[in-house]
Amino acid sequence: MDYYSSQITKLIQELSKLPGIGAKSAQRLAFHIINMPMEQVEELAGAMTGAKKNVRYCKECFTLTDQELCPICSSDRRDHKIIMVVENTRDLAAYEKTGKYEGVYHVLHGAISPMLGIGPNDIKLKELMQRLQSEVEEVIIATNSSLEGETTAMYISKLIKPTGIKVTRIASGVPVGGDLEYIDEVTLLRALEGRTEL
Ligand code: ZN
Repeated sequence: MDYYSSQITKLIQELSKLPGIGAKSAQRLAFHIINMPMEQVEELAGAMTGAKKNVRYCKECFTLTDQELCPICSSDRRDHKIIMVVENTRDLAAYEKTGKYEGVYHVLHGAISPMLGIGPNDIKLKELMQRLQSEVEEVIIATNSSLEGETTAMYISKLIKPTGIKVTRIASGVPVGGDLEYIDEVTLLRALEGRTEL
């Protein structure tokens, strides 16, 4: 790519490191950015560094937020006795989009995968167990229906069972191996409503 100025080549290289951005898209984006008004470019760059600097984990549910407690955990209109366990913040967002779930969440930031060497200590599981010390009526396990998601669900239910807290698993209306974030809201709601006790 030496026929571009080195600055453009650098920009294309950086953009192509992003997920889902191939060499062609990176070129297209790079030229688009070059043609954008300066203020817009600065706003984009500022939004990226600002988000990276200020975004952290909610100290309660571990979703990404820019405050100590995320808006869901700090809301008194949510039912704090029902905790839905999801693998990542994108899955939380998928359930939030339905607008029908009134409980709170717990974000694991991954799933147990012996194949990839990810064990229970590599996800936010200890933190979930600590939360169960307070008054909790139900834990809804909404990990993906992949092998890792199912392994994680089984592991969590075994941990929680002795506490006497109700543990449920979302229905398998969610296709096997399907990522929650790509599933439509109707299917998500059906999976939530059809949850069964483990
Ligand atoms: Zn939170």
